[in-house]
Amino acid sequence: MSDTWNPRTKAVHGGTRRSQYGEVSEAIFLTQGFVYDSAEAAAQRFEGAGPDEFIYARYGNPTVAMFEERIAMLEGAQDGFATASGMAAVSGALMSMLKAGDRVVSSRALFGSCLYVLEEILPRYGVEVEFVDGTDLDKWRAAITPDTKAVFFESISNPTLEVVDIKEVCKLAHAVGATVLVDNVFSTPVFSNAIEQGADVVIYSATKHIDGQGRTLGGIILGSREFIRKTVEPYMKHTGGSMSPFTAWVMLKGLETMELRVNAQCATAAALADALQGHDALSRVIYPGHASHAQNALVKTQMGGNGGTVLSIDLKGGQKAAFTFLNSVTIPVISNNLGDAKSILTHPATTTHQRLADDQKELLGISPGLVRMSVGLEDERDLIADVMQAIALAE
Ligand SMILES: *Cc1c(COP(=O)(O)O)cnc(C)c1O
Repeated sequence: MSDTWNPRTKAVHGGTRRSQYGEVSEAIFLTQGFVYDSAEAAAQRFEGAGPDEFIYARYGNPTVAMFEERIAMLEGAQDGFATASGMAAVSGALMSMLKAGDRVVSSRALFGSCLYVLEEILPRYGVEVEFVDGTDLDKWRAAITPDTKAVFFESISNPTLEVVDIKEVCKLAHAVGATVLVDNVFSTPVFSNAIEQGADVVIYSATKHIDGQGRTLGGIILGSREFIRKTVEPYMKHTGGSMSPFTAWVMLKGLETMELRVNAQCATAAALADALQGHDALSRVIYPGHASHAQNALVKTQMGGNGGTVLSIDLKGGQKAAFTFLNSVTIPVISNNLGDAKSILTHPATTTHQRLADDQKELLGISPGLVRMSVGLEDERDLIADVMQAIALAE
């Protein structure tokens, strides 16, 4: 029955496991271990645990299982493994399936830590990684050779908001038998059904829109039951990046309101992008949902025209103007999370992407005047007025 539910129903009821007390709100099973009725029962459970049988919280826990089941149901995935952070999910998904000699093709425009995993860590273990311009299908076509084991990209890149054509890149990858792993954070679980579009593995930093209230780190790897249980689980449960039961409970509560929050934040982001478009002080306003975005047509087919909750602006006055702008707003906070109820401003060149050399920043479009704006749940009128007064001071 639950398979036919629409997303909002799944987000509220999916995966619920009630204890003998019949609690309404999901219970937090804050336990690291589980008691066996007998020595024989312990031996039997280690031989093979059933869906309601647990061994150790690093392997699985009832609250964590509820979160995994709920988000898998929402995403249309067979299964999921919840992790301690988004980066535990990204690195775990890649490390669990790759070995020395394998070849990976990845988009170049990535979240700083994703880039570190692909550029610095994987090559250390003998994995070859080739980076391409994720918006150029010809570059993907040329790079995805028959010996390619995995293809990785962020469906919308951070912080320049380039959109990758999930369906077409999946076709190219599947033609050579490669596994496609999509970091779908900026598209959010609300706007892009990456699995339906062909992705084999979908990864979220649950820290972002799933919690959505800046409380806790978490991540999820979603895919086929075979991939999750045979490839991901053995790696994660032995290397230790599992999600804590308390975090899973926060994420379960986050999922209940996620669609309402994300839709409201997206509407405000679109209004802010409209208000900023063509402003004298700005050289670029980047918002995937705006008609001026280079891939707006793709956003229409891939995300129903919804541009997400993040926009980026480039101040003509460079870093000095960007800093004045950041220091002059009164509502958004200066931080580096996104998808939060509070609007958050980030200066990528000096924070999240500080590590990169100047030429690499330039290649990725991370200019000195670029500011990433994660739009929160504040009143749209207050936010637009505040951003406008701060930009005026930065002109
Ligand atoms: C934040 C983020 C991550 C990492 O998530 P954490 O929960 O901070 O570890 C990975 N990918 C993208 C696109 C992100 O925005």
